[in-house]
Amino acid sequence: MRIGVLASQGAFVEHIAMLRQLEVEVLPVRLLQELRGLDGLIIPGGESTSISKLMLDYNLISEIRNLAKNGLPIFGTCAGMILLANKISDSGVEPLRVMDITVRRNAFGRQKDSFETELSIPVLGEKLFLGVFIRAPIIVRANSEVEILAKLADSTSVAARQGKLLASAFHPELTDDLRFHRYFLDIVAGNQ
Ligand code: GLN
Repeated sequence: MRIGVLASQGAFVEHIAMLRQLEVEVLPVRLLQELRGLDGLIIPGGESTSISKLMLDYNLISEIRNLAKNGLPIFGTCAGMILLANKISDSGVEPLRVMDITVRRNAFGRQKDSFETELSIPVLGEKLFLGVFIRAPIIVRANSEVEILAKLADSTSVAARQGKLLASAFHPELTDDLRFHRYFLDIVAGNQ
């Protein structure tokens, strides 16, 4: 199994390390030709404006869109979730528009700019999952094909799946809990 991690900007090193722990082949992706032959792709957190600009400069946008439409499993975390969305409620970032969700960037006030909280994520089992939120977005709308995987105590949606696309507003790669990545690999393998 060969998983690419978009390595234009942001927290890609941590994703690569986590995937290595899960013993899959990992490839940092910066160039168009590096998208070839992947079984799955991770779009990391970082700054969605910068990542989207770099994807544009390196001609990655339309290819990633095509791959997603043709069923390539993609997992976006934080800025990566923003980039998967159909619509961003508050900015000019050019998303991939592959997932039927509307997101709001930087959705938590200054005080809660960054925080950690234990989340119940039933698809990962009973044990709570540590959600690390860093200037995080939220999902403000999702169509009926989207499965919401996690919510905050106030019901705000913070993780979702649509077919083989997976998104989290928080950073599983900044924990030592491998379950979210394992879940993604199960989707890639067709076991989920
Ligand atoms: N605030 C960033 C953005 O809007 C996302 C932050 C992150 O990925 N940790 O792009």
